[in-house]
Amino acid sequence: MRVGGGFVAELDRQQHEVAVPGDWTYASAPESRDIVHIRDRYGYFVDGEWLEPAETYETIAPRDEEALAAVGQGTPADVGRAVAAARNAYADGWSSLPGSERAKYLFRIARLLQERSREFAVLESLNGGKPIKESRDVDLPLAAAHFFYYAGWADKLEYAFPNRRPRPVGVAGQIIPWNFPLLMLAWKLAPALACGNTVVLKPAETTPLTALLFCDILRQAELPPGVVNIVTGDGRTGAALVESEDVDKIAFTGSTEVGKAIQRQLAGTGKKLTLELGGKAANIVFDDAALDQAVEGIVNGIYFNQGHVCCAGSRLFVQESIYEPLVAKLERRLATLRVGDPLDKNTDVGAINSAAQLDRIRELVASGVEEGAEIYQPPCVLPEKGYWFVPTVFTNVAQSYRIAQEEIFGPVLSVLTFRTPEEALEKANNTPYGLSAGVWTEKGSRILWMAQRLRAGVVWANTFNRFDPSSPFGGYKESGFGREGGLHGLEPYLRFDE
Ligand code: NAP
Ligand code: MG
Repeated sequence: MRVGGGFVAELDRQQHEVAVPGDWTYASAPESRDIVHIRDRYGYFVDGEWLEPAETYETIAPRDEEALAAVGQGTPADVGRAVAAARNAYADGWSSLPGSERAKYLFRIARLLQERSREFAVLESLNGGKPIKESRDVDLPLAAAHFFYYAGWADKLEYAFPNRRPRPVGVAGQIIPWNFPLLMLAWKLAPALACGNTVVLKPAETTPLTALLFCDILRQAELPPGVVNIVTGDGRTGAALVESEDVDKIAFTGSTEVGKAIQRQLAGTGKKLTLELGGKAANIVFDDAALDQAVEGIVNGIYFNQGHVCCAGSRLFVQESIYEPLVAKLERRLATLRVGDPLDKNTDVGAINSAAQLDRIRELVASGVEEGAEIYQPPCVLPEKGYWFVPTVFTNVAQSYRIAQEEIFGPVLSVLTFRTPEEALEKANNTPYGLSAGVWTEKGSRILWMAQRLRAGVVWANTFNRFDPSSPFGGYKESGFGREGGLHGLEPYLRFDE
């Protein structure tokens, strides 16, 4: 057994003494993986058929590095075949199908996802590393809800955009990340299909399996061949999709760096683009807030999905007068988080998604210590194999530190302080990002005052990381542009007479 984070021995002495409330030990409660059948090898799903890949790579389980399957490394020629299939399906009837008919397919997909949700949840946790209770209770229900929600819009586009003659855009190229593999697929596919587009989707390199299982659902739903095509592979496959001449729109979720490169590449081509990029959200706690409730929101804000969340509340701003009690409560709560097997139903914090992401977290955490922040990691026993990082809190953080500026995308919180609402606002907005924010206070007028001034696409009040398909999501500044979810989420997939 290994004790501590990636980061251990020499830091142990910096750990404060924390009483662990009740020394609970939990019997293991593993979810069975028998429900999922993983094939040895997967090709590309193109025109309703499986295409044999010329080259493959192993996709693994981050909890123990077990090789799960061989998956295709899509070449530009593979992407070309998928785009051609999508173009044919578009011209061959999908784009002119009445909205009420498209809706039937989306409703069917939503119901099938619900019926098979346990199977998908297990596979999502196995391939991605997130706790089963999250994939079961958050990812799967929300993915199904997205299909239900956009199914409802499919025959109402004329009412959603009156007098603007909404029409589909054409073939959409969609590139998604590894933090919410199936949910991001749902966010991308549901509005695109509801509006009458066809799609080529590239899953993230490390988490292709739920997207490949989803092809089963497309067949069960009898979606016409070519309407959705899935080509797996790494960043090169994504780049080939962006470069493809016959794609009319690109939707990308991932890092700001790749997003900027895509934007440069598409400038002047007339292709539509939406970018959902990184974040460094401020979670702001005022001295009148319900502290215990706030602590739960802070924990959910940064340790949910191991902090692999673009809208994670990674910068905590605490009003000076409550700094000490709040940090004490937070550290006490941290010591109760159970880190371990993603398939165990008791697990709160699962495995880090990849070795590369673990290296990135370790490097940024080391920079925090070096720059002078104080680190706290609760005592924690980690599994021998796999990728793990202990939930971490940094106090004594200056705004200039890298851990307060850069997206860590891991279970690492930076705590800063403020005295007045004006100061909280100025510090919260002092970031190149602007995806989300949280405000904790009993005062309604202060919530509204802050929400109007925070430069963030989503502002949560007295809660955090809440999602609903009817609510638009997206960024300001370097967090990207365009909205997903809600009525707003239809617009990027439509052309108008204007
Ligand atoms: P990424 O490289 O931007 O990955 C996003 C998607 O884009 C993946 O499918 C990726 O393929 C693909 N891709 C990579 N290079 C591409 C290119 N040149 N053209 C087109 N597509 C390309 O992000 P990452 O490497 O997975 O993670 C790096 C950092 O990005 C994280 O530490 C985090 O800070 C941030 N991130 C943000 C979000 C978010 O939700 N906003 C999600 C994930 C990551 P591969 O899977 O092969 O890379
Ligand atoms: Mg990458």
